[in-house]
Amino acid sequence: MRVDVLGVSFDNVTMDEAVDKAMAFLEEDRPHLAATPNPEIVQRAGRDPEYAEVLRQADLVIPDGIGVVYAARILGRPLKGRVPGIDLASALMERMARTGKRLFLLGAKPGVAEQAAVKLQAEHPGLVVCGSHDGYFQEDGPVVEAIRTARADVVFVCLGFPRQEKWAAAHGQAAGARLYIGLGGALDVFAGKVERAPEQFQRLGLEWLYRLMKEPSRIGRMAKLPLFLVSAVGAKARGK
Ligand code: UDP
Repeated sequence: MRVDVLGVSFDNVTMDEAVDKAMAFLEEDRPHLAATPNPEIVQRAGRDPEYAEVLRQADLVIPDGIGVVYAARILGRPLKGRVPGIDLASALMERMARTGKRLFLLGAKPGVAEQAAVKLQAEHPGLVVCGSHDGYFQEDGPVVEAIRTARADVVFVCLGFPRQEKWAAAHGQAAGARLYIGLGGALDVFAGKVERAPEQFQRLGLEWLYRLMKEPSRIGRMAKLPLFLVSAVGAKARGK
């Protein structure tokens, strides 16, 4: 069942259910898109119809940000909980390592994906990282070809939103993988370039606060978040 939160439909799933769905996609011979929207992504979709359509057609849409979970609650359509994209990715890699599925890492600055590959293979023994490419390319063709010749099953698409989901929707078929997951800055975290919030912050749903403390320049982007919850209150009042 999907739950509408301000125009984006979310799958109401737990982490385990999300991983099961993602693994099931690998058995179907067609490309699938998994998106991990936070409030910023929902807001963007609200003013970018093409992006909204890409998210509408995505096969799995999970609430990455605590803001989405709060908004759903305000709207009277509570979600089971937050499913952080980066945790979904980690759980999926564990399963991929056991089943021999092939992972391609796309995005971030040159060198970061390679560094992430080394760390991920150490963390998940048996994981096959079949290729990688940085996210600062001008031409799509060679990247599509790299994914195709690597025979990737899963691609972590880390180009930042909305480009990553649009890119996967446009090129997923040609690149031949079965699952594309938009994961924002995940490769920077996997490579150890960006530190993730300590567990206590994660548990309290305050990962955004930790990130703000580390990167105060994000204040402009984050100042919009309270507005997101205000929109949810407004939508509820209008009976949407
Ligand atoms: N990025 C990229 N190509 C670009 C722009 C950005 O690969 O043209 C990468 C960037 O290096 C970073 C990620 O996309 O690793 C976006 O990170 P951010 O934390 O801003 O992600 P978001 O807020 O979208 O989750």
